[in-house]
Amino acid sequence: MALSTTIKTMSSGIRKRRRRKAIVALLYNRLMKMHSKLPKSSQLSSSSLLLPPQVCVKNSLYKDPVSDTFSRLSSSHIFSSRPLSAAGQRNPQSPEQFALAQLLGQPISWSLATSLTMKSERTLRPRRVNGGSVEQRTRKGHLSGITKTWPGKHSGLKSKGMYNPRNLCYRRSVMQAFLHLPQFMQWIKHHWKDSAYPCRNANGLPSKKIKITPDCPACRMRRLIGLYWDKDSTQNEVPRTALRQFDLSLLHANNPDFPLSAGNQEDAGEFYRFLRDTFTSASNTQAWRNQSDALFEMDLRVHDVCGNTAQAGCGRRTQRPDPGFGLILPVEGNKDTINRAIERYFSPSTVEKHCDSCKSTVGHSSKALIESAPEILVLQLIIYHPNGRKKRTDVHFDRWLDLKRFQRDRTGNLKYKLSSVISHAGPSVKSGHYIVHVSGPEGFFVISDQDARKSTPSAFTAPKQRHPSYKTSFDPYLLTYTKTES
Ligand SMILES: [Zn+2]
Ligand SMILES: [Zn+2]
Repeated sequence: MALSTTIKTMSSGIRKRRRRKAIVALLYNRLMKMHSKLPKSSQLSSSSLLLPPQVCVKNSLYKDPVSDTFSRLSSSHIFSSRPLSAAGQRNPQSPEQFALAQLLGQPISWSLATSLTMKSERTLRPRRVNGGSVEQRTRKGHLSGITKTWPGKHSGLKSKGMYNPRNLCYRRSVMQAFLHLPQFMQWIKHHWKDSAYPCRNANGLPSKKIKITPDCPACRMRRLIGLYWDKDSTQNEVPRTALRQFDLSLLHANNPDFPLSAGNQEDAGEFYRFLRDTFTSASNTQAWRNQSDALFEMDLRVHDVCGNTAQAGCGRRTQRPDPGFGLILPVEGNKDTINRAIERYFSPSTVEKHCDSCKSTVGHSSKALIESAPEILVLQLIIYHPNGRKKRTDVHFDRWLDLKRFQRDRTGNLKYKLSSVISHAGPSVKSGHYIVHVSGPEGFFVISDQDARKSTPSAFTAPKQRHPSYKTSFDPYLLTYTKTES
């Protein structure tokens, strides 16, 4: 039985003093047992061992409660991770053995507890409450079990290409972006693996084992993630059958907003939204939807004030939600930057509307602010004219994005790091070719369908993106970012 369980069981019945003695005895026995497991060379002679616990408890000068002793033994500075040896390898001792060796190296010296000694004791301070809005902190809670680590043992694994049988470059580039978002992948890995997130497409069958529903894009994506980041894989390309199965599952997703046509080129931005919505609806539970929101949903509120510089109003403040997919940013000219485009997006504007308070239709000063920001942010750049023709643009950006100043509650930070850049070449959104530049565990790669090439940090953030197979340059269109600070 675990030590903590033993202590809990005992606390229900036995009287306080007996319990205290029993815990000390148990602790002592446990320490001795661990000590005997140490190699002979590092064991201490019996004379230098600690005094038996009874002596300490009976000593009237010793007032330190047993619970303190126990918490001191289990406190993080003692049971910390194992030290590195000179060769950089983890010490093979267990954490307990290491803790014991440390303890025996510096035997506990019992001293009289006075107000002076108590003042020098390490005190546990309450953890600083994080900044940010209530909504932002609630979201953090929703994602508490989902890490930001790359799936599997990715060491040495390079980003892979994906076969494109016809005009599916818009899909492949978006799929690559998703496959380079560690937190998204960790989330999908829970789909139907965890009974809390049953597969909706499995027709209500109970999830006893890890299964794959053939028609479920989330189940198929889980499988793709496993194959893409498989430590035994030496291929430069994702297995084609798995890709085909994923493509087929999309036909069943049946989203009226995005009818997938058989062989036509589609807009990568729409496909990104389609995939995100498909994954969100793959499980019917509230927990799954909360997680999806925390991962993807930008919660913007537009704050309106009745009246503006030109027209007097009653000054009433109202707010309305502006739900959306990331930020859709118009870009201008050939020297624009992402930061300037964002600045324009959040700058105040005037909206003519009716005020319920002063009963008049007046200009309102209107300003959007971030209530809570997603873990994964997508910026879609408007690089097309309303008629669908491509604009001549040149947008500059770097690997970092700081949105702190656009929050309503600015007590928290809000920093993002660039994860992928999907770019396009061609006369219009539904023709031409898409490529993607990704930041993976093994550095940067630029990928055009099945052709994945190693790249550089400067090429990753270039305003004109390039792939060695093409003479033409590509315009950045969708930028995905992952949150690093909030
Ligand atoms: Zn599923
Ligand atoms: Zn008013």
